[in-house]
Amino acid sequence: MQHARQRDHQLARLSNLEQKFKQWEKEAKLEAYDHSPIEVIEDVEICGDCRIYLFNGELPAIHDEETNARREKEILAGEERQQPWRFSSDPHNRDESFFTHRSCECCEANEGGDRYYVALVRDLYNGRDD
Ligand SMILES: [Zn+2]
Repeated sequence: MQHARQRDHQLARLSNLEQKFKQWEKEAKLEAYDHSPIEVIEDVEICGDCRIYLFNGELPAIHDEETNARREKEILAGEERQQPWRFSSDPHNRDESFFTHRSCECCEANEGGDRYYVALVRDLYNGRDD
């Protein structure tokens, strides 16, 4: 009996160590991504209006006043919806646009049109207290 209890204790200890190692391995892999503890979602498709706003800070001014105001709201709401994720440039540096009928993943504009690849990133340790 004594041996069985010792063995169970050792097995529990090993399993605990294994879990710790797996967690450590996962974090090390994420940090190796670009030396910062962030999580990344690739291949997010956004429209030209959103791209200009997200990377140059300019809201659309190319339509009539009413449309500009509506687009402004849609784009800002789209950015807000992603939190705690935020848009970031494409890690593969694909600058070319491509045509698709899928909605913009920021403002949700659903007319077919040109889209660009970007990424969504999130600070891995944001809000964690360990
Ligand atoms: Zn958009």
